[in-house]
Amino acid sequence: MQAVILAAGLGSRLEDKTKYMPKGFIELNGIAIVEWSVQKLINAGIDKIIIGTGHCSNFYDDLAKKYSVIRTIKNYDYANVGSMATLDICVDLIDDDFLLLESDLIYDKAGLNVLINDRRSNIVLASGATCSGDEVYIEIGKNDLLKNISKKKDELANAGAELVGISKVSLKLLKSMRLFFDKNKKDFPKLDYEKVLASVSTGDCPVFVKKIQYYAWREIDDNNHLEMAKKEILPRIIENESLYSVEREVLLNPGPATTTDSVKYAQICPDICPREKKFGGIMRWICDELSAMVGKKENIKTVLFGGSGTAADEAMISSCIPDDGKLLIVNNGAYGLRLAKIAEVYKINFEIYESSGFLPIDIETLKSKLIDGKFTHIAIVYHETTTGLLNPVPEICRFCREYGIVTIVDAVSAFAAIPIDMDRDCIDFMASTSNKNIQAMAGAAFVFCRKQALENIKNYPMRNYYLNLWSQYLHFEKSKQMRFTPPVQTLYALRQAIIETKIETIEKRYARYSACWKELVKTVDELKLKMLVPLKHQSKMITAVLEPKSPKYNFDDFHDFAQKSGFTIYPGKISQADTFRIANIGDIKVWEMQEFCRILKKYMEEI
Ligand code: PLP
Ligand code: MG
Ligand code: MG
Repeated sequence: MQAVILAAGLGSRLEDKTKYMPKGFIELNGIAIVEWSVQKLINAGIDKIIIGTGHCSNFYDDLAKKYSVIRTIKNYDYANVGSMATLDICVDLIDDDFLLLESDLIYDKAGLNVLINDRRSNIVLASGATCSGDEVYIEIGKNDLLKNISKKKDELANAGAELVGISKVSLKLLKSMRLFFDKNKKDFPKLDYEKVLASVSTGDCPVFVKKIQYYAWREIDDNNHLEMAKKEILPRIIENESLYSVEREVLLNPGPATTTDSVKYAQICPDICPREKKFGGIMRWICDELSAMVGKKENIKTVLFGGSGTAADEAMISSCIPDDGKLLIVNNGAYGLRLAKIAEVYKINFEIYESSGFLPIDIETLKSKLIDGKFTHIAIVYHETTTGLLNPVPEICRFCREYGIVTIVDAVSAFAAIPIDMDRDCIDFMASTSNKNIQAMAGAAFVFCRKQALENIKNYPMRNYYLNLWSQYLHFEKSKQMRFTPPVQTLYALRQAIIETKIETIEKRYARYSACWKELVKTVDELKLKMLVPLKHQSKMITAVLEPKSPKYNFDDFHDFAQKSGFTIYPGKISQADTFRIANIGDIKVWEMQEFCRILKKYMEEI
C-alpha cells in the first residue's frame, strides 16, 4: 500500500512558527511531526509516500532525500485552493490504493494497522471527543457508513465521532472524488478533501467510518494544539506504542543478525496461500529489489529458495558446473571448506586452493593455479565469517572473466554491507541469505545470477532436485511461484527489511557497521588483547579476538556475563587459534556497541 500526505497548507494559525517553514516541520521531542508520521508509515510496510507540497516545499524535497520512499509534487497554487486540489495534483504518482493523511498530525501507529488490516476499501478513521477546539465532526450512518462531515456540530443530526485525518482510499474512490471536484472546483476551489469524501460516499463506492473511542492523536493547527500535543498526547502515544516493543537482544554472533521491531512485526500478516497472485507479486518484488542491490535489474536474476545460506551455496555448486567442468575452491576458513564438502558430495571435479585463515590470499599464485590447472570455474567466499577476513573477490573475478572462468561467490555475510556490483565485479553466481546484513529473518536463501551465466547452465545435469537453480528459476518466471512451499512469513519480513535497507542504503549501513567495529577495536586495543586478522584485512563486520591467557578466562562465563545485559556473543571457529568472535552486523546502534565495550572491559578487568 502507498500513502499520500497533504502538506501544501500555509499553517497560518501557528503564526510566526510557520512563516518560513511548513507545519509538518514543527518538532516534537526533536523530530518533525511529519517525520514521525513517515517513520510510522515505513514501519507499517508502506514503500511509497507521496507528499503534496506547497508552502515552503523545499523542506519536503529535503526530507525526500533522507527517505528514498518519498516522492514530492508541488501545488503551486497552494495559497488559493484547498486540500482537494492538492490531492488532485498527486494523482499522477498514485498507482494503488493508499492511505491519505494530513501533514500536521501526531498519532498512535495502531491507527495505520487498523486501516490496513480492514477488508473494506474506503475508510475514514475517527475517534471520540478530543475537545481540541477545532473538531471536524462526523455523522455515522447505518452500517458505519460515512454520512456527513462538518466543523459545525449543529449541521449534523448526530455528531458522534471526530475525523482524525487518516483515511484509506481506493483508486475507485479517488476517481469519483476527482469527478466531483472537477464539477465543483470553479465555484469552490477551496474544497477540502474530507468534504468531497462525504459527498461521494454512495452505495456504489461506500466510505465507512472506523471509530476508535480513545484513540491518541492530535492535529496541530494552532499554538493551543501544540501545547496539548507536547504535554498530553505525545507522551500517551509513546506509552501506548511502547507496549508493543519486543525485548531487545543485541546479537553479536555473525547471524542471524539483530532485526528491527518493524521487521519482526512484518511476520504478523494475514494467512495467505502462497500460490495466490498477490503473494507471487510480493516474491517478484523481492527478487527485483534484491537484484537491483547488486547490479542492473535487467542483468541480474535473483532465484529464491526456502532454506539457509548453505542451501544457496549448495544450489550453486550442484547446478553451475557441467560434467566436463573443473572447479577450484579457495579455502581459507570454515565456509570455503564447506563449499568443498558440498562439491565432494556431488562428485564435482574439483581441487582446493589452500590459503591462510588470517592473511590475504596470494593472488598471483592463485592466478597461476587457475591457468595451469585449466580450471573452468572458481568458488570463493567473499567474507570469511570464520575470521572476519575479507577476500579480494572483485580482483580475482575480473581476472577470471578475462580467461572465461565462471565465478561462484559465497557472499552470505558480505551482501548488503559490502557494496557489490556483479557486472563491475565480474561475478556470475552469488549466494546470500535473509538473516545476515539484509537484516531479516532466517529461512530464505537466494542466488543472484548474471542472466547470461544462468542461461548457460540450463542443460547441465540436475544433481539435486529441490535446490536446482535452473528449475527454480524457470518455474518462477513462468508461474511467479516457488516450486515448493516458500517460507511465507520470512518473506514478509524480508520485504520489510528490503524497504529499510533501501532507506538506510548499503553504503551507510556499512559505515554504521564500521563505526561499531571501530568502537570494538578501540576497546580490544585498550585491553591489550590481540586480533587474529591484521587490521587492514578485516571486514569491519566480524572480529576474531585471541582469548586472554588468564586461567580465569572461560568463554561460557563471558557469554553468560554479556547475556545478562542483553548481548549474545559467539565462540571462535578455527582450529589454529583460540578465539572468540564479535560480530557487529544487524540493526546495532553505535551506542549499543559502546555499551557492549563497557561490559567487555568489565569482564576482562575482573578476570
Ligand atoms: N557462508 C558464509 C560465508 C557464512 O557466513 C554462513 C553462515 O554464517 C554460511 C555460508 C552458511 O549459512 P547458514 O548457516 O545460513 O546455512
Ligand atoms: Mg484537518
Ligand atoms: Mg490541519
